Amino acid sequence: MDPSTRVNHPPEVELAPDNRPLVGPIYQSVKFSFDDSVETERYLRGEREGFFYSRSSNPTLRQLERLLAELQGRTDCLLTGSGVAAIAACLLALCKAGDHVLLFAESYGPTRYLVQGLLGRYGVRHRLLSIDDLDGIERALAEQPTRLVVFESPTNPITKIADIGRISESARRHGALTVLDNTFAGFHNHGAQPVDVYLHSLTKYASGHGDVMGGAIIAEASVITGMRRDVTMLGPTLDPHAAFLIQRGMRTYFLRYERQCANALAVARFLAAHPRVRRVHYPGLADHPGHALAQRQMRDFGAVVSFDLDGGIAEGDRFANALRYFSISASIGSTESLVMPPRLLGGFRVAGPLAAAAAIEPGTVRLSIGVEDPRDLIEDLGGALDAAFAA
Ligand SMILES: *Cc1c(COP(=O)(O)O)cnc(C)c1O
Repeated sequence: MDPSTRVNHPPEVELAPDNRPLVGPIYQSVKFSFDDSVETERYLRGEREGFFYSRSSNPTLRQLERLLAELQGRTDCLLTGSGVAAIAACLLALCKAGDHVLLFAESYGPTRYLVQGLLGRYGVRHRLLSIDDLDGIERALAEQPTRLVVFESPTNPITKIADIGRISESARRHGALTVLDNTFAGFHNHGAQPVDVYLHSLTKYASGHGDVMGGAIIAEASVITGMRRDVTMLGPTLDPHAAFLIQRGMRTYFLRYERQCANALAVARFLAAHPRVRRVHYPGLADHPGHALAQRQMRDFGAVVSFDLDGGIAEGDRFANALRYFSISASIGSTESLVMPPRLLGGFRVAGPLAAAAAIEPGTVRLSIGVEDPRDLIEDLGGALDAAFAA
């Protein structure tokens, strides 16, 4: 064998069945081969298990898919290169022209764009309601055959709690599928609810370190099987190296999430007692309108805390600029704390009659709480509030 051939056919290293790595390897290979073409064809016909081309599936992704599906209490999962790719692929795979989708003023901005803008161009109709309007949801479903109800809980950035049980039950009764973007609540929450499809941005709590993007569509295998071809053909698959990093992140998922929730509660309590804070939005506080519902349907309350400063853009800017441990940045769910001041929350506003439902005030600030020491975070927030209102 000539060296130029050899470098393209390197020696293989096979492990004996009783000799395993503790960490799954990164199958950084686009292609997989079977020993003969008959078996290859059997695979392509779905008659045997295996791997052939990484846009369709890859063992490193498969390990993470199985883990996430199990944590969410469902039987299958598809991974994508970002959370938005999971939302887009899911919507495109489940809708056709003429279908009707229920969407909410409190929904994630890109989700609203995908339903209203992109799906709208392809003839999918929608109705926008408030997630608090349970009677309106029931009425809309009764009035009009609906394909999907697409929602979130807690919502971004105000942390409203959707009544997942009632919404899902209404949807089922009227033949609509529910799609819950469960990114804020995480894989350990809401699995017992009768939700058809869960979406996650793995960029957030799953990877946890702010260094890799990914997304997941999780559902029963029968639902995923129906979507698999469309999703594969749209081509949003996750890279094996990113899947490996997210798998590594998942090892500390519960440790991080628990610490972040405990920190978030401490921060929320501190802010609620501060004279310059008009209102705190955190479902773990007893006076949050969704507290009792969150207690029933969640195991914890998440790590996003929003609040309304006693001021507007200028106070918000001074506050955010004075913080030492909270970086001004988008996203949530990483180990470090982040702040979005009022100036940067414009994208969460909605125009028209549902503007009030989004509940974004001139002084609304969103915090994503990390794993730092809570005393440092609280001292930092106190100092920045002083700086924001110094004469
Ligand atoms: C961040 C986020 C997404 C999008 O995820 P990306 O990985 O950034 O594409 C979707 N839904 C929610 C609720 C999010 O917070």
